[in-house]
Amino acid sequence: MLPVIEQFISLDGEGPTAGELACFVRFEQCNLRCSWCDTVYSWDGTTPVQYKTPQQIYDDIKASGIRNVTLTGGEPLIQNDIIALLQLLADDDTLLVHIETNGSIDIAPFRKACPAKNIVYILDYKLPESGMEQQMCMDNLNQIQREDVYKFVIASEEDLHRAVKIVKEYELQHRCQVFFSPVRELIDPLAIVEEMKEQCLNKVRLQLQLHKLLWPKEMRGV
Ligand code: SF4
Repeated sequence: MLPVIEQFISLDGEGPTAGELACFVRFEQCNLRCSWCDTVYSWDGTTPVQYKTPQQIYDDIKASGIRNVTLTGGEPLIQNDIIALLQLLADDDTLLVHIETNGSIDIAPFRKACPAKNIVYILDYKLPESGMEQQMCMDNLNQIQREDVYKFVIASEEDLHRAVKIVKEYELQHRCQVFFSPVRELIDPLAIVEEMKEQCLNKVRLQLQLHKLLWPKEMRGV
């Protein structure tokens, strides 16, 4: 069984399919505690949990008729039955599945269990301001594949410089998709644009979270 706190259809606000509809499945619990976490309700015990089998989750996704699937949290990869769900999704190539993972979990065992092309990893690299950089699984930076995404949530100048350093050191922009995403309350997105110009950062994309532009930031299920 998997602990689901939300399953809903909305606009994909970020990532490679931003602006398209997606079916979101948000799991309870997270192994990190980022300083700027915007989904505290996924792990603080305040939200009712519905326990679903992998088959129930898959059936609900199929019933929605939506092609894009985003598994998020909390943290999807700490869930006991997640591989069983990934196998169901991987066997259905009409679906495109994004796993939003916080970057602290080694993705290798999951990729090995479900090597299908329709399963894409969207990994965070937690920067200093999050307080979680020491938790990052650095092996993931070497395992990333072209269709995957590394996402840097930037909350300060220090974060910005660290993100640029990691991208260059691991040549991420040549090996996967790279997104810079500002914490809007803490850094002006234009400061990120200026640094991208200064550093001549080709193939890095500034990403403003569409759902936060369209709906109040505290609204759930959107
Ligand atoms: S990894 Fe995500 S869900 Fe977990 S604390 Fe950080 S921002 Fe929140």
